[in-house]
Amino acid sequence: MSDTLFERIINREVPADIVHETETTIAFRDINPRATTHVLVVPKTRYRNVAELAAADPGLLADVVNTAAKVAELEGVAEAGYRLTFNTGEDAGQTVFHVHGHLLGGSSLGPEARPPK
Ligand code: AMP
Repeated sequence: MSDTLFERIINREVPADIVHETETTIAFRDINPRATTHVLVVPKTRYRNVAELAAADPGLLADVVNTAAKVAELEGVAEAGYRLTFNTGEDAGQTVFHVHGHLLGGSSLGPEARPPK
């Protein structure tokens, strides 16, 4: 299985603006930010999506959430509030199939999805 973009970032083969790293996770700024703070939080072990991660290694999912909370503190958005989303599959717009949380904050974010037509 070839490496995903995020594995190449973890291995320092592709540059990224890393804001925090632990033994099991890495957090770096999204290259195309959609909020004042937009950081991707990624487990170093690859799972395709958050459901696969939760089923296989709930402790690692907890590490991802704890890293997101730490990054929210570092970015100064923990108190005002933030959103942590895991796009899963095509309709959600997932483009990188190595699970990652989008940590979004820094201003009021509005609704997370549009109402049905
Ligand atoms: P998703 O669409 O949920 O799979 O999210 C993938 C995210 O990766 C998108 O928000 C992209 O903007 C972001 N992205 C793509 N390439 C890079 C990169 N080289 N460094 C940082 N973020 C990236």
